[in-house]
Amino acid sequence: MNTFDDKLRALREQGLLRQRRTVEGPQEAVLTVNGQKMLAFASNDYLGLANHPDLVLAAHEALDQFGLGAGASALISGHSERVAALETELAQWLGYERVLHFSTGYMANLGIIPALVGSDAAVFSDALNHACLIDGIRLSRADAVNIYAHGDMAQLEDALMHAQASEKWIITDAVFSMDGDLAPLKAIVALAEQYDAQVLVDDAHGFGVLGEEGRGTLSHLGIRSPRVIYMATLGKAAGVYGAFVAASTHVIEWLMQRARTYIFTTGTPPVLAAACLASLRRIRKDEYRRQRLRELGVRLQVGLKGLPWVALPSVSAIHPLVLGDNFSVTRMADALRDRGIWVPAIRPPTVPEGAARLRISLSANHSEEQVDELLAALRILA
Ligand SMILES: *Cc1c(COP(=O)(O)O)cnc(C)c1O
Repeated sequence: MNTFDDKLRALREQGLLRQRRTVEGPQEAVLTVNGQKMLAFASNDYLGLANHPDLVLAAHEALDQFGLGAGASALISGHSERVAALETELAQWLGYERVLHFSTGYMANLGIIPALVGSDAAVFSDALNHACLIDGIRLSRADAVNIYAHGDMAQLEDALMHAQASEKWIITDAVFSMDGDLAPLKAIVALAEQYDAQVLVDDAHGFGVLGEEGRGTLSHLGIRSPRVIYMATLGKAAGVYGAFVAASTHVIEWLMQRARTYIFTTGTPPVLAAACLASLRRIRKDEYRRQRLRELGVRLQVGLKGLPWVALPSVSAIHPLVLGDNFSVTRMADALRDRGIWVPAIRPPTVPEGAARLRISLSANHSEEQVDELLAALRILA
C-alpha cells in the first residue's frame, strides 16, 4: 500500500524531490522565507511591479468598487468591465484587432491550442517549449506532432517540407523559460510564410521586458505578421496574475466559442484586471526598469564568465548557470541558501536530463550590490 511512499523515495534518491518554501510579505528583492531574510533571484517579477504602489492602489480601489468574485464563467454571468477594458487596452497597445483574457497562462495554452489546431493538422513544436504548450498540444489530438531540436531551423524546415497535412501550426516560446534565449522568430515566420503555416508565440517571459515600451519579443525583433497569434502572461513582468491571447477578430471570436479553459472556468476577479491596467501604464512608461534590467544582466553575465560552469548567454531577465547533475545543483542551491541567497535549482523534467541548473532571474528591483553579492558567493563556492 505504500507505493507513493516508494515513488517519493525514488524521487529523493534521484535528487528530484521538490520543496516548497513559505514567503512572508510581498515580492521584493529581499524576502523573508521560512523566517529567514533571503536575497532572492527566484521570481519572474522582472520589472519589480508585483508590489508597486500604483498597482496596490488600483487593486484597493477596484475592491471597494467591484468587490471580489466574478460570479460565474464569463459567458454565463458576464465579464467585468475592468476585464473588458484590459482586453481593449492590450489590443490597441499591441496592435491586434482583439484580445481574449484568460485566468492564467497555463489555462490559456490548454484552451487555445486544442481550439485552434484541428485534429488533422500537423504541429511543429520546439523541444524546449514550456510544459503548458506541450500539454495543450497533447489535448489538441493533432494528427502529427513534430518536435524539432531547440531552435533548429533546418530540422523545422525539413519537417514542414515533408508534412502531409494542409493545416500546419508552429508553436514556440518566444523567450525560453529555463534557458533565457530567444526563439529565432524571424526565421520561423519566414518558414511559416514559405510553407503556409500559422504560428503561435508564447511570450510569457518577453512581454514587458523586451521591445518598444515593453511590447514583447515580436516588437524587439521587428516582426509583424498576420500569421502570428500572440499570447503572454500577466503574472510575470506585469507583476499580477492572468494571461491573454491577441489575434484577429475572427480568431478571438472562435476562441471565445471553443477554448474550454475559457468557457468552463470562473471569470477573473475585477480587482486583478484593475491591477493589470495599472501595471500596463508602468510597463509602458518606465523604460528605466528595462534599462536597469539590461545593465544588471550585463553585469551578471560578465561576472559569471569567470566561474567554472556554463553560463548561457541571455538578453532576457533569465540567466541560467548549468551545473549538470541534479545533486551538484541542489548542493549549490543549499550552499547559497546558507549564505542567505535564494536561487532555484531547476532539474528534470523541467530541463533535459544532465542539464540541471541554477536559474538566476533578475528584477529591476535588484541593486548592483546585490548582483555582486551573488557573484561573490558563487566565486567562493566554485
Ligand atoms: C509561466 C509560463 C506559462 C504559464 O503562465 P501562468 O500564468 O504562470 O500560468 C506559460 N508559458 C510559459 C512559457 C511560461 O513560462
